[in-house]
Amino acid sequence: MLKIENLHVRVEDKEILRGLDLEVKAGEVHAIMGPNGAGKSTLSHVLAGREGYEVTAGRVELDGRDLLALPPEERAREGVFLAFQYPVEIPGVSNVFLLKAAVNAVRKHRGLPELDAMDFLSAVKAQMAALKMKEDFLYRSVNEGFSGGEKKRNEMLQMALLEPRLAILDETDSGLDIDALKIVADGVNRLRSPERAFIVITHYQRLLDYIHPDRVHVLAEGRIVRSGGPELAHELEASGYGWLEKGPEEAA
Ligand code: ADP
Ligand code: MG
Ligand code: MG
Repeated sequence: MLKIENLHVRVEDKEILRGLDLEVKAGEVHAIMGPNGAGKSTLSHVLAGREGYEVTAGRVELDGRDLLALPPEERAREGVFLAFQYPVEIPGVSNVFLLKAAVNAVRKHRGLPELDAMDFLSAVKAQMAALKMKEDFLYRSVNEGFSGGEKKRNEMLQMALLEPRLAILDETDSGLDIDALKIVADGVNRLRSPERAFIVITHYQRLLDYIHPDRVHVLAEGRIVRSGGPELAHELEASGYGWLEKGPEEAA
């Protein structure tokens, strides 16, 4: 489904990704771990099409199409979902407004009829019940004053409603308690399907105890330097990333 080949990306004249290769098949969940500053968030931003990231070499294909040629909105409509590491606050815009606009834009692109207010509300309320969210949440401003757990639930709600092909979750390096990890894990597990793939970026081996990824990768110095099964996450938890100092080639 997703094929990344030899991806090189610059941010402000600094080469951050340096020949990254990654292949994710439909139905799979891949975890990306790695030391701080390795380029994990850069990868998620480049896939989502965020400004300021210059691709200097390489290719990214989604279902055989050149993803990098598409503007960000179109990537979202093609089913690429990015849960942001630091979700923005949008005062004055209600959650329900933004969610409905996003869902209908995606439906339109997929040739489905737009949902009217009634249908949308019943769809969103069903998902909110599954996520144990209170209804007043809909009428609050986007992310304004959300607790950590509420932000995570909101991301999972967006993801569930948008029914992405490829969901990318970039988790914060710190500050996620066990409840927040479980919200994310449940959100992913509930949406796992043979047509959908996930890339979960995390520092927490513990998150992977709940998600059970098919593959685990280590991103270091702008490349995937090791890949393995779920046991790799446990190994990293025990050994850390000190082995990287030997140089990725030697250590791999
Ligand atoms: P990770 O998510 O693995 O911790 P990032 O992708 O956030 O790593 O960052 C990789 C490197 O790129 C870091 O050295 C960081 O300082 C740098 N970087 C990321 N974003 C920017 C930016 N907007 N401007 C300048 N440097 C950046
Ligand atoms: Mg970081
Ligand atoms: Mg990061």
